[in-house]
Amino acid sequence: MKTIEIENYLNELFPEPKCELVYHTDYELLIAIVLSAQSTDKRVNTVTPIIFSKYLSLKDLKKASLTDLENIIRPVGSFRRKSVYVKEIARRIDENYNGIVPREREILESFPGVGRKTVNVFLSEFYHMPFIAVDTHVERVSKRLRLAYMKDDVLKIENKLMKKFPKEHWARLHLQLVLFGRYHCKAMKPECSSCKLRCYCREIKEKSVG
Ligand code: SF4
Repeated sequence: MKTIEIENYLNELFPEPKCELVYHTDYELLIAIVLSAQSTDKRVNTVTPIIFSKYLSLKDLKKASLTDLENIIRPVGSFRRKSVYVKEIARRIDENYNGIVPREREILESFPGVGRKTVNVFLSEFYHMPFIAVDTHVERVSKRLRLAYMKDDVLKIENKLMKKFPKEHWARLHLQLVLFGRYHCKAMKPECSSCKLRCYCREIKEKSVG
């Protein structure tokens, strides 16, 4: 069956998939995910150690100078907006939630810069809760492997993946799809010649037809 073959191959490629964002606490992870929007984990990992070694607690971070944060965050892009988000997220967690990032989706999604995908990544990574976050890699791979239609939006893709794969695999599958998209099934020049999922792939069929 297709989904079993996909999982088997992903298990072969990534037997121990891990989130590539560097973090030490719940709020560091949440902020790292927020910073990763329209950026890369690699870039985020160059700025978060600077932020969290300079501002050692949520109390420090909420009082950080905006200009200073902007200068640190600049390499990840959208740095003005993201700096405001970081300060406000730190303030809310410190003042309203006792310094602990809440687990409730509605609360998390009310934070600035935090949407459904960010919440899914955070809850599945930090609390090992069953969610599939659909980022650009997961979207591309799902469409290429015909797990979703080309016209599907991220919410449709998320629902389709949840229907097709067992719930206890979702968090792991998310990480594996991200890594597969990042290192094998890349947007430009995917490594199709060595891919064991060619028979399911839309790209291959389209190329051979063309
Ligand atoms: Fe991705 Fe190529 Fe594999 Fe298709 S054959 S899933 S495009 S790596």
